[in-house]
Amino acid sequence: MTPLGIYVHLPFCAVKCPYCDFYSGPFRKGAAEAYAEAVCQEMRLYAGKGLRADTLYFGGGTPSLLEPALLGKILRTARACLGLLPSAEISMEANPNTVTPARLKGYLQEGINRVSFGVQSGNTQELAALGRKHTVVQAEQAVRWAKGAGFSRLSIDLMLGIPEQNKASLEDSLALAERLPLDHLSVYLLKVEESTPLAGSPLLERCAGEDELAEMYLYMAGRLEGLGYFQYEISNFARPGQESRHNLKYWEAASYLGFGAAAHSFWEGKRFANPPDLAAYTAHPGEGRLMLEEQVCAAEEYLLLGLRLTRGISFSRLAELGGDPELLRRRAARFCDAGLAEEQDGGLRLTRRGFLVSNSILSELLYSQIT
Ligand code: SF4
Repeated sequence: MTPLGIYVHLPFCAVKCPYCDFYSGPFRKGAAEAYAEAVCQEMRLYAGKGLRADTLYFGGGTPSLLEPALLGKILRTARACLGLLPSAEISMEANPNTVTPARLKGYLQEGINRVSFGVQSGNTQELAALGRKHTVVQAEQAVRWAKGAGFSRLSIDLMLGIPEQNKASLEDSLALAERLPLDHLSVYLLKVEESTPLAGSPLLERCAGEDELAEMYLYMAGRLEGLGYFQYEISNFARPGQESRHNLKYWEAASYLGFGAAAHSFWEGKRFANPPDLAAYTAHPGEGRLMLEEQVCAAEEYLLLGLRLTRGISFSRLAELGGDPELLRRRAARFCDAGLAEEQDGGLRLTRRGFLVSNSILSELLYSQIT
């Protein structure tokens, strides 16, 4: 059996960022300790099932608010109950203003071998517009501390579409990426969810328009490539061999189990999630799971997720999963003619320009598989 991925949601933040709709609440030491024990209890439900896992990802929230010993406790439980392999990729998200050299060393000693910092921007004005509580200097220092502590795998998140951002200010983020010792970058488009405070803010009027944003995306991708990071997914860039193995599981529709409040799982062909309720989860871990999709359509999934990857999808694999490659090719022809997609090595992939309009392309191609 292919080893699975493990996701652990740690829903604690020092302050809520005005654009964020991830499930998280205020950090309190006692609540975090009780929550970590609840995560371990949920993991124990799978003990003795002969599972093997080769990736574990601490996401949030802000995992770096939790003491290294707490993450270490969860890792030991994952090894004992979920078969987390000694060679596993073990990642954590971190906020630049929550770490110290000693704390980072502690995470490394507990077995974490990859850190992804939520940097978001290398420009002070953009950080202020996002309501981030760290500075550019703190972000740079945090990554250097992590390198000094012994982490060889380091990633940062950056954002496009931030209020006040333009091609000139983007240079500050690119310059930061260039001087930091990274092997991976994620570059996300700011998506303003209705439920967040940013949705009603006049700051939104200061966001780049669609064309300028598209130009910035293409420019950034080209510059990162020039710095030795190849694009392997719509939003992700890595030095050769340094892709996030955990995130690849999502895009390759591999199995993963999510632990913690609001954590999602894809397991035995079903998608389900824990309710987003920290108190209820801590009291009764693993109870009240919400079934999101009882029977996932494998061909649909392969198409939707696989076309996020620069290598795209293979026609033979699509056929194996019950899809119709010929119908897909006919539907994709006009996107290929427009330079938004291309057939290559017996498969189909989106081009970088295609990534910019991937949602509408995918909905049309998906329609071709289910009608
Ligand atoms: S620190 Fe991250 S998870 Fe927490 S509120 Fe900000 S963006 Fe959301």
